[in-house]
Amino acid sequence: MKSLLAAVTSLVILSSPVFNAQPPSPTKAFTGARVIDGTARAPVDNATILVRGGRIVAVGPAVTIPADAERVPLAGKTVIPGLVNAHGHVGNTVGLEGGKYSAENVQNDLRTYAAYGVTTVFSLGDDQAASIAARDSQKTPALNRARLFVAGPVLAPKTVDEARKLVDEDAAMKVDIVKIRVDDNLGTTPKMAPEIYRAVIDQAHKKGLRVAVHLFYLEDAKQVLDAGADFIAHSVRDVEVDDAFVAMLKRKDVCYCPTLMREVSTFVYESTPSWFTDPLFLKHVDPKTVETLKQPARQEQMHSSKSAQRYKAQLPVASRNLKKLSDAGVTIAMGTDTGPPARFQGYFELMELELMAKAGLTPQKVLASATRDAARCMKLDGEIGTLAANKWADFVVLDADPLADISNVKKISAVYVAGNAVAR
Ligand SMILES: [Zn+2]
Repeated sequence: MKSLLAAVTSLVILSSPVFNAQPPSPTKAFTGARVIDGTARAPVDNATILVRGGRIVAVGPAVTIPADAERVPLAGKTVIPGLVNAHGHVGNTVGLEGGKYSAENVQNDLRTYAAYGVTTVFSLGDDQAASIAARDSQKTPALNRARLFVAGPVLAPKTVDEARKLVDEDAAMKVDIVKIRVDDNLGTTPKMAPEIYRAVIDQAHKKGLRVAVHLFYLEDAKQVLDAGADFIAHSVRDVEVDDAFVAMLKRKDVCYCPTLMREVSTFVYESTPSWFTDPLFLKHVDPKTVETLKQPARQEQMHSSKSAQRYKAQLPVASRNLKKLSDAGVTIAMGTDTGPPARFQGYFELMELELMAKAGLTPQKVLASATRDAARCMKLDGEIGTLAANKWADFVVLDADPLADISNVKKISAVYVAGNAVAR
């Protein structure tokens, strides 16, 4: 009698309009995979990831699966935390011109990142209202695109007063971090003066905000650290980093974001890159953009560009600096500077991991920098970065183990954000 009553009750619930309008978020059990949870723990074979309401309930080899859970068998697969890009850009990605920020582009970009397993992106500049709105609407179990955090506009004040005013505007906009550039673009533009960036950093800290700095030169990196900068958003590329810089980064606990693929993008289109035939790359790229980048005249222009060749020459310096800093115990946050024209979101992050390994980091170090460490560096580790109870169920299912070969991050079987499979 009791069971008959239960059956009738559930039938009533199933057919009620309330149910149709708002289905309860189901419990999902992802079973049988090798799980690399992003912590220092060894990979766990035949693990279960239990997800409810978009968040992880439990993960491990001995998780009790509720009878009503939807089961997703993942035997033979390897699961890693969703990748975190600590330096990207969203909203402007249209062809090779860019600069056409729109809410639609923001959403498209976030879907593209997610399709490649980049489940969180920290956009370091050119962020407008639609990006703030996207960030503010993502704490939902229904999310199926990459999470977004934003810097607002890249601040370029000319006076100390303007510096403080622009930071106040950033704070009013509720950005997640303040972004400035301290660079002369290989000697072609004026560099932000120390009294200006000191005012930006001071005002940001007064408002409870951190400051990310675009830079190129070691001397500037030391100066901005001395001024209190909180995040080094690019590789030092002019010279080899020295022990004093290492000591500063460690003492101040500041993270370093290599963006090696940004460097590649400055010169690689002097010829046709080998990955232009990779189906994984071609799947989400605008074919017109690829065709344009293949044009001989355009390639010749890049080949004879002084700045392109200078950046090309400095990439090995950036690689060596990454290895030296990582070995010295500086926290590395994976980042790419994707989003501007010809810096392809999603695919470039996977190539960045390969370049980091090529620089000499172990696959384990590379993965950590792209998950747990990037999340920590961006103060997001309470919510993402590792696969642990109460965190969002953002993860990538791979056909092969990336600890054996980091390139296996390209063998994507599925990507989940808040436990939802994202479109690929
Ligand atoms: Zn950038």
